[in-house]
Amino acid sequence: MRTHIEGGWVVAFNGRSHEVHERGSVVFEDDQVVHAGAAYAGPADTRISAAGKLVSPGFINTHVHTAGPGGDYLLLDMARNDYRTSNYMSFAAPLKGKMTPPPPPAVAALRTFVFLHALRNGTTTIIDVGGLRGDWDGYAKLVDELGVRVYGSPPFRDRDTYMDPQGRLTYDEDVAAGRGRLEEAVGFVKSFDKSAQGRLRGMLNAAQVETCTERLLRAGKDAARELDVPIHTHAGGNMIEFQRIMGEYGKTPMRFLADIGFLDERTLIGHGVFTAGHPWTAYPFGDDVRLLAERGATLGHCPYKYAKMAMTLHSFQRYLDAGVTVAIGTDTYPMDMLGELRWASILAKVTDGNYQAGQPRDVFNAATLGGCRFLRRDDLGRLAPGAKADILLIDLDRLGSLVYADPIKALIDAGSGRDVHTVIVDGKVLVQDGRLTRVDEAEVYAKAREATRHYWGTVPRWRWDGADVERIIPPAFPLRRRQ
Ligand SMILES: [Zn+2]
Repeated sequence: MRTHIEGGWVVAFNGRSHEVHERGSVVFEDDQVVHAGAAYAGPADTRISAAGKLVSPGFINTHVHTAGPGGDYLLLDMARNDYRTSNYMSFAAPLKGKMTPPPPPAVAALRTFVFLHALRNGTTTIIDVGGLRGDWDGYAKLVDELGVRVYGSPPFRDRDTYMDPQGRLTYDEDVAAGRGRLEEAVGFVKSFDKSAQGRLRGMLNAAQVETCTERLLRAGKDAARELDVPIHTHAGGNMIEFQRIMGEYGKTPMRFLADIGFLDERTLIGHGVFTAGHPWTAYPFGDDVRLLAERGATLGHCPYKYAKMAMTLHSFQRYLDAGVTVAIGTDTYPMDMLGELRWASILAKVTDGNYQAGQPRDVFNAATLGGCRFLRRDDLGRLAPGAKADILLIDLDRLGSLVYADPIKALIDAGSGRDVHTVIVDGKVLVQDGRLTRVDEAEVYAKAREATRHYWGTVPRWRWDGADVERIIPPAFPLRRRQ
């Protein structure tokens, strides 16, 4: 079946770069784009009007955790200083043996919510860098039914993080458990890669650079090579991690990963904020940024999450100028890729004290073409003949300024995930007029809310100081809840 999207601003790929066509066309047949650019006059079975809209390649979100927003909330506006620049450790380090995994229906509800929330906000390729464990058949079935495009596998590590009763972070090494989890991940890739009509793809996830022993990182990278899939790890994500790697190996996380052969063109590094030269590291030696560029690794930049934690990359522009492939992810909530583009652009300017940094062109490229290199996909992140029909229609008439000269600049300046009108993945319309077409949204959100509320209720049981959520994250004003 041939579908013609007509009348909008079309972001087409000309083989070298994106270009924007006024009142252009995108035509796709089944799951593939057959025309993108100037107005098309040929036959079509279906027409979609894109008047007043930007017709954009779908975004590749390089940092999605399929765990729901429960833990992420514990990162928001931490009013207490036990946070210690520790990023995920503030909530992912429970008292040992006190945290129980959620029941399977809750896992499924949260995964559904994550996939659909990402989709509605402009993500057409979801890179799942780790979430709730278990029921992998159910995971694959969900990807199949929802129509989303996902890269993932269960994350592995051999050092779990815990707090002791005094609130001291401990790393509990269990080499056999790590090996078992890597085997589980390899099994997942073997079972599910290219399932869901090719929309579910395997990639490996070494959880965090410091929660894996060198041996496990090497084994993970070897397995990824053997399976011919990409690999991700969190590195340069927080100062505890940076200092631990410095203490253990006498080098920065990036130098360490390069030296063990982990960094190459099929590697995605989550965050990579704390590298040599970042002012917080007080470590000016070496050139981690150039190392990333030389090895061809992709940096998954999550600007808004880091801004919430008073941290930022030094800097988006510096990494780009050094030749690093930078991609964009959301990591936490909202999974609003349009918001991320604005944060990436503005933070680049503020960090460098340079209004010429963080150009709209560069952040748009990062969210599209930037995510394709480590995936080795030249049929994603662009609209051109032969590309996958992963397409967004974004309502430009709803932007803050109805009058604009350049739709891309207007989008970066004022766009939000709420402006995403239509989402097409693999030629299937999954969001229409801002609403999901395949599921009952209210039901998905109700189940996710319920699962998240339940999770929050468990926090005092596993948190080292027994604090409840309202103590960890005090409400903005006193909250008078109805019983
Ligand atoms: Zn993450």
